Amino acid sequence: MSSFFWEARKRIVGSLAEEISSYYFPLQSVDPALIANDEGITFSYGNYQNSFDGLLQHQYGNFHIYINLDRLQFENAPRTRFTFAHELAHYYIDDHRNALKNGLVPSHPSFNALFSKNPVEIEADYFAACLLMPSKSFQSRCLKKPLCSDLIAELAKYFNTSISSVIFRYFELNMFPMAIVCSKNGRIEWVRPTRDFKYKKFYDKGDAVPNSTAAGEFFFQNRKYETTEIVYPDDWFLDEEMDTSEQLYEKCYYQSNNTVFSLIWKKEK
Ligand SMILES: [Zn+2]
Repeated sequence: MSSFFWEARKRIVGSLAEEISSYYFPLQSVDPALIANDEGITFSYGNYQNSFDGLLQHQYGNFHIYINLDRLQFENAPRTRFTFAHELAHYYIDDHRNALKNGLVPSHPSFNALFSKNPVEIEADYFAACLLMPSKSFQSRCLKKPLCSDLIAELAKYFNTSISSVIFRYFELNMFPMAIVCSKNGRIEWVRPTRDFKYKKFYDKGDAVPNSTAAGEFFFQNRKYETTEIVYPDDWFLDEEMDTSEQLYEKCYYQSNNTVFSLIWKKEK
């Protein structure tokens, strides 16, 4: 998907999700099951082994959502809610629903993947994030608060969403200058800075995670930090001119399959 096309799609999909969110839940946290009920979409929480996280099925004019508790814990768990919202996206987004109705696709089995490559799945994930964490409400909860791990935890609790989905929403809404580094098995997967982040030159995919970073300590010394650590610009960045005495924060979020998200931002004086 070209970035121009994606930005345009994001506006359409995001405003659709936010309209639905503010129509049903102007003041409280979103319950995807109530939205489904009101739309006449039936649903079931069941044990479907490993076949999918969620699935939207169309049969004889009716839509049904299956939520797989074998992979998603319990009904009101953050990942379950996200999956439910993702399946609602396949119903609400015209192209997705019409493809299903016209039999162009059999059904929409979806997996909770942080970085899906399929454009339809990327759109549905974006819809889910906007539905569960509408921008106005999200922004108002971040107002005048500097980035810190407590804020991320507070947002996750308020919206009943996972820490990682809060991090990406926070990043997407450009709430604070920061960079996210994703590393896996001791190697860099990607680096994403906000537009206004001070440093511009980053390690490439496949480069070894620097030893001196908190993520590096995890991979090479098996050390996990609950706290936010101090690092320096030349630990993480490759810009030619840097004030190497400037202190940065790095907060690691350890994921399954040996993946770490490092949030990096400037330490307030
Ligand atoms: Zn899907």
